[in-house]
Amino acid sequence: MDFSRYLKEYPDAEGRFGKFGGAYLPEKLVPAFKQITDDYLTICHSSQFIQELRRIRKEFQGRPTPVYHCERLSRMIGHCQIYLKREDLNHTGAHKLNHCMGEGLLAKFMGKKRIIAETGAGQHGVALATAAAYFGLECTIYMGEVDIAKQAPNVARMKVLGANVVPVTFGLKTLKEAVDAAFEDYLENYKDTIYCIGSAVGPHPFPMMVRDFQMVVGYEAREQFQDMMGFLPDVVTACVGGGSNSIGMFEAFLNDPVEIVGIEPLGRGKTMGDHAASMSYGSEGVMHGFNSIMLKDEKGEPAPVYSIASGLDYPSVGPEHAFLRDCGRVKYDVASDEEAVDAFFKLSRYEGIIPALESSHAVAYAMRRAKEMGTGSILVNLSGRGDKDLDYVIEKYGYGEKYKDFK
Ligand SMILES: *Cc1c(COP(=O)(O)O)cnc(C)c1O
Repeated sequence: MDFSRYLKEYPDAEGRFGKFGGAYLPEKLVPAFKQITDDYLTICHSSQFIQELRRIRKEFQGRPTPVYHCERLSRMIGHCQIYLKREDLNHTGAHKLNHCMGEGLLAKFMGKKRIIAETGAGQHGVALATAAAYFGLECTIYMGEVDIAKQAPNVARMKVLGANVVPVTFGLKTLKEAVDAAFEDYLENYKDTIYCIGSAVGPHPFPMMVRDFQMVVGYEAREQFQDMMGFLPDVVTACVGGGSNSIGMFEAFLNDPVEIVGIEPLGRGKTMGDHAASMSYGSEGVMHGFNSIMLKDEKGEPAPVYSIASGLDYPSVGPEHAFLRDCGRVKYDVASDEEAVDAFFKLSRYEGIIPALESSHAVAYAMRRAKEMGTGSILVNLSGRGDKDLDYVIEKYGYGEKYKDFK
C-alpha cells in the first residue's frame, strides 16, 4: 500500500479506516457528532486555529519536546542505540495534553462553554481540567467512586484546577460506569457542551481528531531524529492503550522504510482478565460507539482487563490501529508487568529518567529488540513521566534491588 496520500484518504467521510471505525450512536446524539465533525473539518484548515494551537504548544506546553539518546542504557544492552521522544517533558507530564488543548480550542471556536469527560486513573481528567482552566471553560469529570478512592492525588489536581469531579456510584463504580455517566450528561447538554474523549477511540470524529492533535509528536520526532543523525531510525515504537500517543508517533513514519511496532500490556499473562492486549487476543466488535478489535467475554460483552499501568487497561483499541495492522503496515507485540517494571527501574538507574508505567512497556520492548537486533537504532515514544506511579511501585517492588543488573 502507498502511504503518500494516506492522511487525505483515511478516515473516509463516514469515519472509517477500512472496515474499522464509524459512529454507532444513539439517535439523539447523531446531530451533535455531525456538528463536531463539520466544525472540526472547517476549523482544522483555518490559519487562525492552527496559529493559535501552535502558539499554545510552544508557550504553554513547552513544545517541541526533545529527542534524547539513551547512551548508557544502550551500552549496557549492546550496540543497538535507543532514543526517546520525551513526551514526559510536555506540560502536565504526558502526551495527553496534546489532544486536550486541541479539543479545548475546538470547544472555544465552536462557542461551547463547557467540556466534560470520564476518567479512570485520572490522567485524562487532569489534562482536560488543565485545558479548561487555560481556556476559561467549565469542566465536569466523571470518575468511579472506587477510582476516586485509589487516585487521591489526581482528584486533588482536578479540583485545584477548578474542575467539578462527579463520583459515579452505580455498578462497579469504575471507568465503564464513568463513561456511561458522561454520555448521559452529554445527551442532556450537547448544545453547550463537548464530550472530550481521552484517546484515539470512540465514535467518529474522535479517532481522527485525537490522531490529528497527537501527530505533532511524530512529526517533531522524525525531523529531530533526522537532524541529529542524517537518517531515520530502524524501528519506531510506542505503548498502546486506546492508542493516542502511538498513533501520533506512527503517522509521520508510515511512508518511510521504518519498522513500526505498537506495544500492548500482557499484564500477568495470557488468561482472560490478566491482560489488556486487545490486538493479540481480541476479535472484531463494536464497543463505545466504534468498530474495532476488542476483548470479549462469552456473552460478547467487553471482557475484564488488567495491566499494572492503569492507562493501558482498555478492552479495545483505536480503529486506525486495527486498520494499520490489517494493511500489514504496523505490527503489535506485548510486554508484561514484570518487563515493564524492569524497564521502569533500568531507565531510572541508567538514564535518570523515571518513566510512566505505560511508557515502560515500550521501553521494555525496545530493550528486548535492541538485544535481538544487535545494531541499528530504535526510537521510543516516552509518553509520560512516572512520578504518579512511584507510591505503587515502591509498595510492590521496593526500590528495585532485583532489577539492578542486566540479564
Ligand atoms: C493514558 C496514557 C497512555 C495510554 O493512552 P494512549 O491513548 O494509548 O496513548 C500511555 N501513556 C501515558 C503516560 C498515559 O497517561
